[in-house]
Amino acid sequence: MSSVKTLQEKINYDKTFDCVQCGYCLPACPTYETMERETHSPRGRINLVKMVAEGKAAIEDLQEPIEKCLGCMACTTVCPTDVQYGEILEGAKEVIEDNQVKSKTQQKTEQFLFESFFPSKGWMDTLGNATWLYQKTGVQKIARSFHLTKVAPMNLDQFEKVLPDLPSPKERKRRAKRFIRKRPATAKVAFFTGCVMDSMFFDTNQNTIELLLRSGTEVVLPEQQTCCGALHAHSGKIDQSRELAKENIKAFEEEQVDYIVNNAGGCGARLIEYHHLFEEGTEWYERAKQFVAKVKDITEVLAELDQINYTKPVEKTVTYQPSCHMSNVQKVKQPPRQLMDKIPGLTLKELDRPDFCCGSAGIYNILNYEDSMDVLDVKMKDVCSTQPEGIVTTNPGCLLQMKLGIEREGASEDMEAVHLVDLLAQAGPVGKWE
Ligand code: SF4
Ligand code: SF4
Repeated sequence: MSSVKTLQEKINYDKTFDCVQCGYCLPACPTYETMERETHSPRGRINLVKMVAEGKAAIEDLQEPIEKCLGCMACTTVCPTDVQYGEILEGAKEVIEDNQVKSKTQQKTEQFLFESFFPSKGWMDTLGNATWLYQKTGVQKIARSFHLTKVAPMNLDQFEKVLPDLPSPKERKRRAKRFIRKRPATAKVAFFTGCVMDSMFFDTNQNTIELLLRSGTEVVLPEQQTCCGALHAHSGKIDQSRELAKENIKAFEEEQVDYIVNNAGGCGARLIEYHHLFEEGTEWYERAKQFVAKVKDITEVLAELDQINYTKPVEKTVTYQPSCHMSNVQKVKQPPRQLMDKIPGLTLKELDRPDFCCGSAGIYNILNYEDSMDVLDVKMKDVCSTQPEGIVTTNPGCLLQMKLGIEREGASEDMEAVHLVDLLAQAGPVGKWE
C-alpha cells in the first residue's frame, strides 16, 4: 500500500492545511516549553512538514524536530480546527525512516529488535526470566555495589534502578490461558497482554486478570497475539506495524468476545487506531474496525461492570499521572478517577497540569534521555506541589518514568509510583471468583 504513495500523500500534505497557525497548541506542548523553539512546537512541525511536501525544505530538516516530538497528542486536545496531528506525525516519521541511510550494524540491530525481539513471546519471556535471574542470584547486588551498572549504554543504569521485582520462570509458565466460569459471565473478555508489559510487569497483568475475574467476566488470553506495533509506528516502520496489526486482528477474531482489554495506555492507543493502517473500503479496514470497536482499557471495563467492592483501606494521599495516550488518544479520562474514588481511605489530589506528558513516550526516554528528563523535571515540580505519598498511573512507561522522577527528587523514602491495577488489587477484592 505504502509503495504506491507519493511523498505528499505519505506525509499527509492535505492535512497540514487544517492548521490555521493560531498557536493555541503552543502552551500545551511540552517540548515547546522545555526547548523554547518554534520548530519544536506542533505549529512549527506542521509547517516543516508542509515545506518538505512543497520541496521548500529537505527531509533532513524535519528529522530532529520530529524525533524530539513526544507524540503525546496534548496539542490535539486544544486545537480549534481538529488538526489530525497524529497522522501528520506518523507520515513524517515514515518519510524520515524511508530516507535514512543506516549503517549495516544499525540495520541489523533494528531488524532484530523490531522483527524478532518485540513481536516474539519467546524473546519477551527470555527477557523477563533473565531479569529475574539477575535480580535473584545476587548479580544485581554485586553490579550495584561495584557500580558496574554504570557501564550500561544509553543510561540504562537509570532504568535498571526502577525495575519491578519479576516472577520466577515457573510462575510465568504456570499462568492459564483461559479462565472459564461455572456461573454465567458478566462479559467475555480477551486480554491483550502486551510484549514488554507481559515481560517486565507480569504481576500487573496477573492482577488485571484477577480484577476481571472478580468482575464476573470470563477471560481468555489468545495465544497468537503479538506486540501491538506502537514502537514500530513511533519509529516510522508503518509496514511492520501494519503486519503486527493483522496478526493481532486474526488472533482476537478467533475468540467471540465482548471486549478486548489492555492495561497499557500506549498499547491501547495503537490498538484503537488499527483501522488507520488500512485503506477505507478494504477487507482489512472492515476487520480492523470490528476489532477496534471492542478495544477497551481495563479501567473502562471495571468501571462499567462495577462488580467489585474494594474493602481494604489504602490510607494514602496520591496524585494521578494519566497516560497521554490513554487520555488524549483513547479519550479515557474519568474511569481511573471513578475507580480511585471507590478505594476506602484514598485521597486523590489532582495535578495542576495532568495532561502534561511525563517524558516517557514509548522509548523516547531511552533515545532522548536528556530531553526526556527536562520534561520529567517539569512534571515532578507539579507532582511535588501536591505532596503525595503515591503517584498512580496506567501505563508501564509512565510508571518507570515516575519512579525515575521520584529518584531524581530524592523522594523515594516518602513517595512511590504504582500502576492503578496494582492499587486496585491491593484494595481488594477477596474471595473466590468461580
Ligand atoms: S492549535 Fe491547531 S490550528 Fe492552531 S496552530 Fe496549533 S495545530 Fe495549528
Ligand atoms: S505530540 Fe506532544 S510533543 Fe509533539 S507537538 Fe504535540 S504536544 Fe508537542
